[in-house]
Amino acid sequence: MESKPIGLQGPSFLRNIFETAVVFLYPAECRVCEEFLGVTSVPYICANCWQDIQFLEPPWCDICGTPGVNGLCDACAISPPRYGKLRSIAFYQTTLQEAIRLFKFEKKKVLAQHLIRLINAHIPTDCRIAEYDFVLPISIHRKRLRERGFNQAALLANAIAGAEGVPVLTDVLVRHRYTVAQSRLDREARQQNIIGAFGIRNPEIIRGKRLLIIDDVFTTGATIREAVSELWTADPVEIDVLTVARTLAS
Ligand SMILES: [Zn+2]
Ligand SMILES: [Zn+2]
Repeated sequence: MESKPIGLQGPSFLRNIFETAVVFLYPAECRVCEEFLGVTSVPYICANCWQDIQFLEPPWCDICGTPGVNGLCDACAISPPRYGKLRSIAFYQTTLQEAIRLFKFEKKKVLAQHLIRLINAHIPTDCRIAEYDFVLPISIHRKRLRERGFNQAALLANAIAGAEGVPVLTDVLVRHRYTVAQSRLDREARQQNIIGAFGIRNPEIIRGKRLLIIDDVFTTGATIREAVSELWTADPVEIDVLTVARTLAS
C-alpha cells in the first residue's frame, strides 16, 4: 500500500492548516526576534520579546533622568535644562523600538493598547500625573497629522492622563512650522531643524499652571528643549516631561 504524501496526514496536516489560519490573521513572524508568532494575545511581537523591555529604575539624575546617576548629572550641574524634571519609562531598544515604529510609522494602532498597559504599570514613582493641571503632548504639524492620521504623542498622553483624570491640551502647544522628521537628522541638525517650530495658542489657559509634557521618544532633547522654552513664554509655574522611551546615550 502506498503511503500518502508527507504533510497530508495526521498532526502535521492539522498543524499546517492551523498555522495558515494564524498567518492569515497575523504576520507569521515576531517582528523583533523573527520566531514564529503562534497564538498570541498581542499581534506582531511575541510574548518573550515583550519581556525584554528594559524599564528604567532609579537612581537617575534628579533633573534630566539620566540613569545611573545619584543627585545631578554633570550636564545638569553645569547648565540645568529649563524643565523641572524629565522622566522616561523604558530604554528605546529592540522590542520597544519596534513597537513604537510599528505603531507610529506602520499605523498598527492595535499595539498602542498593549503599550499603554505597560506604560501605565511603569510610570516612575516620582512622576505623579494627578498633580499636574494639564498634560500636553508634543504636537505634530497638521500636514504630518494628515499624512500619519494621528499624533502618537497625543494618543499616549490621552491614555496616561485619562487614567488619572488630568485634562489633555492639544491646541495650546502647536507646531506652526513643518519640519523634516527629527529621526532622520544628527544631533546638530536636530537642534537647527526644530528652532521656531512651536507656537502657543491661548496662553492664558496655562498661565500659573503645572504642566506635564508627554512625548514618545527622548533622543537628543532638542524637541523638548524647544517646546519647553516656548511654553515658558505663557508663564506656567512648572513644566515637567515624561517620555515613553529614551535612547541609551542622550
Ligand atoms: Zn519575539
Ligand atoms: Zn541630568
